Amino acid sequence: MKLVRLALPVPLARHFDYLLPQEMPITQGARVRVPFGRQEKIGIVIGFPEESDVPKEKLKAISEVLDQHNLFDEEMWHLLTWAANYYHAPLGEVLVSALPVKLRQGESTQRQAPMLFQVTEKGKEALASGMTLKAKKQHALLQELARLTNYFPKSSERYSPAVWKALGEKGYIEAVDQPFTPLPWAEKLAQRPIAVAQNRLVLNTQQSLVVSRLNFHQGFGAFLLNGVTGSGKTEVYLQVIEEVLKRGAQVLVLVPEIGLTPQTIQRFQARFNVEIDALHSHLNDSERLNTWLRAKNGESAIIIGTRSALFTQFQRLGLIIIDEEHDGSFKQQDGWRYHARDLAVLRAKNLAIPIILGSATPSLESLHNVQNGKFTELQLSRRAGLSQFSAQQLIDLKNQPITAGLSQQLIKQMQQHLEKGNQVMLFLNRRGFAPVLLCHECGWICQCDSCEKPYTYHQKNRVLRCHHCASQRVVPLQCGHCGSTHLITTGVGTEQLEQALSERFPDFRISRIDRDSTARKGALEQNLQEIQAGKSQILIGTQMLAKGHHFPNVTLVALVNVDSSLFSTDFRAEERLAQLYVQVAGRAGRGEKQGEVVLQTHYPDHPLLKSLLTEGYGAFAQEALKLRQLMGLPPYASQVLFRGVGRDNDKVAEFLQNLTACLQQIITQQGWQGFQLLGPFHSPMAKKAGHYRWQLLVQHTHRGLLQQLLSHFDLHKAQFLRNNIRLTVDIDPQDLG
Ligand code: ADP
Ligand code: ZN
Ligand code: ZN
Repeated sequence: MKLVRLALPVPLARHFDYLLPQEMPITQGARVRVPFGRQEKIGIVIGFPEESDVPKEKLKAISEVLDQHNLFDEEMWHLLTWAANYYHAPLGEVLVSALPVKLRQGESTQRQAPMLFQVTEKGKEALASGMTLKAKKQHALLQELARLTNYFPKSSERYSPAVWKALGEKGYIEAVDQPFTPLPWAEKLAQRPIAVAQNRLVLNTQQSLVVSRLNFHQGFGAFLLNGVTGSGKTEVYLQVIEEVLKRGAQVLVLVPEIGLTPQTIQRFQARFNVEIDALHSHLNDSERLNTWLRAKNGESAIIIGTRSALFTQFQRLGLIIIDEEHDGSFKQQDGWRYHARDLAVLRAKNLAIPIILGSATPSLESLHNVQNGKFTELQLSRRAGLSQFSAQQLIDLKNQPITAGLSQQLIKQMQQHLEKGNQVMLFLNRRGFAPVLLCHECGWICQCDSCEKPYTYHQKNRVLRCHHCASQRVVPLQCGHCGSTHLITTGVGTEQLEQALSERFPDFRISRIDRDSTARKGALEQNLQEIQAGKSQILIGTQMLAKGHHFPNVTLVALVNVDSSLFSTDFRAEERLAQLYVQVAGRAGRGEKQGEVVLQTHYPDHPLLKSLLTEGYGAFAQEALKLRQLMGLPPYASQVLFRGVGRDNDKVAEFLQNLTACLQQIITQQGWQGFQLLGPFHSPMAKKAGHYRWQLLVQHTHRGLLQQLLSHFDLHKAQFLRNNIRLTVDIDPQDLG
């Protein structure tokens, strides 16, 4: 019996050896089913060792071989093994997470043929005789099928399954058995023009320069497309993509979750006459598998997706684009915590293809990479088309009468814009009615015991919700401390803002966009459509409304309250606020009308706000980089965050102390200099969902040394794997909370 080494999706940084029963062909990267304890698991073959550390009689046999081929092409295998190494994550977990869920569960990689239909003789006769079906949808589908010379794939998108079924039962259409041979899109290339030319815009001078620079580039290159909001970055992407498609190559576009608005996809679909697949959160597992297979087989030309779409395999990838490259959603925050942007750059390098990182507010990491020559910066400093930059203004809230968070001046300005028939957008990054419910007599605050943070009051549903652990409770009638019934809310959330504004502006309709108002599937799309159609005039939203949307009739944008981010302990808070401000401000004046941006604050003299308003993001970023360098913070240093989470506070604290001692010992033994060990401390979010959180931040200016430390630590890691305390090791952490 042959030995097979497997990666299994278990949180142990080790591999497992099994026996292969007969001499059946099996290759690296194939899936196998194996007994594991009392369960069965699906593992991936990573090698064929000569010997095992485990005595042969203790080894178990593989129960089933699921694939004849390696599921990973060479490039993806290389990327994932590199990533497992760099993020010190178990290879099994990394390999498995790069597969669609259906494959993890053992589904076949054979493409399911789509059902093909044709109109029957009966159907043709009926149509010829001028018959009309009462059911309009059925009639439309029948007509559509009759017009086609070829078979028609059953697509669930435009006609519901019930419509197909009804026509079938009436005998007007029938399914056709036809062998399914997916055709790589490149082979269809000659048959049609790729771009819909009349939709192509005439580039302005800046755009032309950038596009020709990119189109003449060959091989690897990382390009930071630093373009102000509305400068026409998307048009640049589209025209560069067109050239890549003409060569028969495929394109991967990564976007932040919220950027995946129907708008973005529609723009691509309107431009290109090729197969475009979107990987978004509303797909079910079968659709995901299908998309994955289509890309791998080369059937689709463009894949647009969020973070995990990075692991899509392609037949011939020619270009990667990361839109809004600064966005935090590209960093995975649980499991193995990769950064999709960083891995995408590596992937482009391995494939010797260009990658474009686009943003109006590039991350300091990427700007640093421009400074040190790793990235090439391409700038678009002017707005494309007719829109102009907006006027910006600070409103000092100090000593002002405030209604639901709004100053009288802002309300007056809203009135003016609304009366002119324009739309107004208010940004407030706090959902619910009010963030705090407290006792007016003794000051008691109603808080979530599991997180030790105040509950948010949701008036519409009359509940208190914890935004940290999602627990909820009924609103108490009495103070939990003194028994008083005089409970009041403080602070303002989007729900309260909506209510106050509907009283103040009864003649205008309001759209609120936050996680509560868009929880229902399709609600976000519907809301956005209403705004586009001008059905609502006042838009209220959290972060969700800040990014990517193009609302030409919005002329006034207001940031209601961002003061709390001015005094955060997180060294990235200022960068994030600056990005948020620019993104939100960028929603104003996207059409032909002049826009206005208003920021309300109690701290109009805060240096960050001043520099942002007077000098812009670029100047802010340069200053911020200098400061980071001075303080020895990323991107001038690398960090690793160790975090322990458990129910017993003292035990978690002790756990982290032991871990710190272990690291210190390794450092001393190796004689390494320059390590900074910050902690162990309580995490800023010290308790969450009933679990106490402690952390240690380790920092060094030399990334390689930090990696060496982690490799040494891996040898000791087993002693830190407990049932009652969960350890996470976050490399290049973004979230220090
Ligand atoms: P960004 O992605 O940089 O924010 P977009 O690509 O969304 O900008 O472009 C902003 C607006 O400018 C869009 O309405 C787009 O149609 C328009 N636009 C872009 N390029 C041109 C151009 N060359 N000529 C005219 N309009 C343009
Ligand atoms: Zn009280
Ligand atoms: Zn909670």
